[in-house]
Amino acid sequence: MPELPEVESIRRGIRPYVQNHQITEVRFNPDKPLRWPFQAEWKHEKIGGSRIHNVTRRGKYLLFALDQGHMILHLGMSGTLRLLEEYQAPGKHDHIDWFLGNGRGDNQGDGVSGQLIMRLTDPRRFGGIIWYADAPEMHPLLRRLGPEPLDTQFTGDDLWRALKKRKSSIKQVLMEGKTIAGIGNIYATESLFFAGIHPAIPAFRLSKNQNIKLLQAIREVLIAAIELGGTSLRDYIQVDGRPGYFKQALKVYGRSSLPCVRCGTLVLTMQLGQRATAFCPVCQPLQA
Ligand SMILES: [Zn+2]
Repeated sequence: MPELPEVESIRRGIRPYVQNHQITEVRFNPDKPLRWPFQAEWKHEKIGGSRIHNVTRRGKYLLFALDQGHMILHLGMSGTLRLLEEYQAPGKHDHIDWFLGNGRGDNQGDGVSGQLIMRLTDPRRFGGIIWYADAPEMHPLLRRLGPEPLDTQFTGDDLWRALKKRKSSIKQVLMEGKTIAGIGNIYATESLFFAGIHPAIPAFRLSKNQNIKLLQAIREVLIAAIELGGTSLRDYIQVDGRPGYFKQALKVYGRSSLPCVRCGTLVLTMQLGQRATAFCPVCQPLQA
């Protein structure tokens, strides 16, 4: 499931190929919407005919700046974007095609020229895309997102203050996105392991020091994952249908009943907010 690093990797992968290119046509099936119905704007020049000025990210959302407004894309559970050099008929799980640029040329020096198609694939259909006229940060989906974890203006002290009144488990609070954006089950689980914090501890119980450690762990885990994804940017230009996700090097997530990589104790799993949560009972003690 795409979280901040996967979304960021996709952003870095596609941006050089789509930025400043014109969308000459958008193809989709209006009777098969994803999470949100296709708005009227999808049928006219606000999208088709517009240029893509930039591709940015906020939390797990990809933002495409157009001549007017933005496309806001959430990849849901299984969404991915790929770039096709040659048109192929869309498969069952392909939902939107953006045809980009006429005479695109090899302006990236990457050997790719001519028309390019950006294709949204999402087998589980939990993703969604909307067009929004105003600044994307004002949209209800984005307005309440917490700070970006990689924004260095945000400190462990800030995290501690934000969590002071939060009684839910630290893992659930991280995943909500209101205190800090972009983190889901995988990277919440991994970050808590690296910080040595039990996932079920009520957020307000964490000391200032633990918050500092936790934010540092979050950053290290996210940066490592983005770098891993960054090694295979070329994979976004492909025609064989593989999603652009990279294999994550995970230390505790998905390792239930296996020995902890740090101390050898068997990794346990507990349910938190209906999500399976792996942790090491020795490296992540319940008592701080
Ligand atoms: Zn351990």
